[in-house]
Order: sequence, then C-alpha cells, then structure tokens
Amino acid sequence: MEKQAYMNGKVNGNGAVKGSNANGHGRRTAVQADYVWMAGDLVPFERATVHFLNPTLHYGPGVFEGIRCYATPRGPAVFRGREHMQRFLHSAHTLGVLDFPYNLDELMTAVCLTVSANRFEECYIRPMMYFEGPLGLNLDAYTPVVAVAAWPWGAFLGEEKLETGVRMMVSSLTRMHPNASMTKAKISGQYVNSILAKTMAVRAGFDEAVMLDPEGYVAECTGENLLLIRNNVIYTAPRATILEGLTRDTILTLARDAGYQVVEERLSRDQLYIADEVFVCGTAAEVVPVREIDYRPVGSGKSGPITKHIQQLFYSAVRGEHPRSEEWLDYVVAEACTVI
Ligand code: PMP
Repeated sequence: MEKQAYMNGKVNGNGAVKGSNANGHGRRTAVQADYVWMAGDLVPFERATVHFLNPTLHYGPGVFEGIRCYATPRGPAVFRGREHMQRFLHSAHTLGVLDFPYNLDELMTAVCLTVSANRFEECYIRPMMYFEGPLGLNLDAYTPVVAVAAWPWGAFLGEEKLETGVRMMVSSLTRMHPNASMTKAKISGQYVNSILAKTMAVRAGFDEAVMLDPEGYVAECTGENLLLIRNNVIYTAPRATILEGLTRDTILTLARDAGYQVVEERLSRDQLYIADEVFVCGTAAEVVPVREIDYRPVGSGKSGPITKHIQQLFYSAVRGEHPRSEEWLDYVVAEACTVI
C-alpha cells in the first residue's frame, strides 16, 4: 500500500524518527514514530515542534487525551476512540475554547491517519490542543491548534506490576477543588498537581499516589481511577471530583455484565486499608492491582481473584474478544482512513 495514498495532503519530507521520553518510573523509554499529525498535516516526527514563546508551555492552558489502539484479529482498533475524542472536545469546552477547529469526525480521521501513517498495530495515542498566540492570560487572544501523536507504549506502571501489584501512599497533596480548577477536563496545567504527588510518592519508594479530594475522601490517583472490593462488592468514588475515566466506565460496565454489584460512593482512606482488594485503572496503566497502601498490605498482599477476573474481562474487551468489543472498538482502515 502506498503511504501517500492515505495521507492527508502534505508530507514534509521523509525524516527518520528518533526521540525519547521518560515513563512514570523515570526510565528513559524511546518514543518512536514516523509522523505526527499537526493541524491537518502529517509531519515527520522530529519536525513536530512548538516555539519556546508559546502560552501553553508557559502557563499550561491546553487539553489532551490518552487513547490506546490494540491489535485485534481484525487489525488495529482504537478502544472507545469516539468517547475519548468527545471528552477531548468537552475538555476544550470546559477550558472555555469558543472556536474549536475540528468536529468529532475530523478528529477521528486525524487519529486514524496518525495510527495508519505510522503503521502501528498497537500504540498509545496522544491528541493535544495547544495554543498559539501572545504570552498573556486571556484565552481569547490565543488560537487553538490540534496535534495527534502515537507511539508504542507499554504498561505505564510497569509490565510486571500488572501481576504483582503496586505500592501506594496517600498523598499529602489534595486533588483539585472543583471550584479552583476543572475536574472533568484533561487540562495540561492541572497535571502539575499529579506530577507533584507522583514524584513525591516515587521518591519515597512507592509506585503511585492516592489523592484525596478537598474534603478528605478518596478521589483518584495521579493518572488513574481507583476501585476497591469488599465482600465481593466493587466500590469506587463518585464522579464529582474525579476525571470520568473511560477505563473506569469500561470496568464498571464489564463488572455489572458479569454480575458484580457496583457501588459509587464516597470512600475514606481507611476503607482502602481494610479492603479485600484494590486496583487502579486508566488508559495508560490499564488495570493494575494494588498490593500495599501506606505500608499496610491490601488483603492478601497479592493480586486478588476479582481483580484478576476484571483484568481478564478488560483485556478480552480491548483485544476484540468480548461481546462488548464491537461497540467499543473502532477498527483502523488504512486505505480509506476512515474509522468504521
Ligand atoms: N484520572 C486521571 C487524573 C487521569 O489522568 C486518568 C487518565 N486519563 C484517569 C483518571 C483515567 O482515565 P481513562 O481511563 O479515561 O484513561
């Protein structure tokens, strides 16, 4: 298949791609891709750059998404891609962007172009809206620009942790107050709160931080939602002060389908300590058991049976092997670069 046949117009050269990035544990992990989609064009990876005098770089206004594309028997498929891109639009709307340059279908085409131009079977996809404009604090002086990158990215909290589980501490930092920031939006600058908590947790020897909401109830982790199991019932925090994770929604749906009782209610930190099982979930992390919180082993101190069952349901769904897969997977058809 000819690359040019499905690329959206201009391809600026054919540069080799090299780059690097740090993952959640500070290891250097190569980010490799051939092209990044930027404002309508596929540009070689090393030219996908933004000027230093950029308001998003200086102040943090910008929104992003994290999506995964999985290899399935029918080829690469983006998991809940439209819902991720709908959240992307909602994030921009919440931030206050009045003139977003693309609709949902166009964004899905951009995702498809990015995945297929790079010939990925499986990858992580990072759409972002950043701004160009003056270094001021008035959003209306900025112009939104959208870019989509993709690269192969393994388990965010570490491959082995999918089985052995992570150790977490409750952070001394509070998750965003809903009237100080926007809890439903993936706004770039808000992740400084996550970075502060995560870095402190990792420096203290833990894998991840639990963040409490401004009233002291369990909210979420720095890049994942959090669920606990007690007496076979699955509990998770209500949505008001957390990011409405699509993995969380996937898990609650799969759990209900499988006959588990699911309860969304406020949880205290000590409910985590006495849970039978705890796990975290997110697009990058996927589904990861928690074996210890604040030096207290959770349950048996190993991945529990319900966590393992949920993991298994999740992976069958994302890989096209579950009855729910069809409704959640958008197969990437490179020739046409439409998403069906
Ligand atoms: N909470 C936060 C703060 C996150 O950054 C993420 C990752 N997007 C999640 C939860 C999980 O959301 P999702 O399952 O949609 O990736």
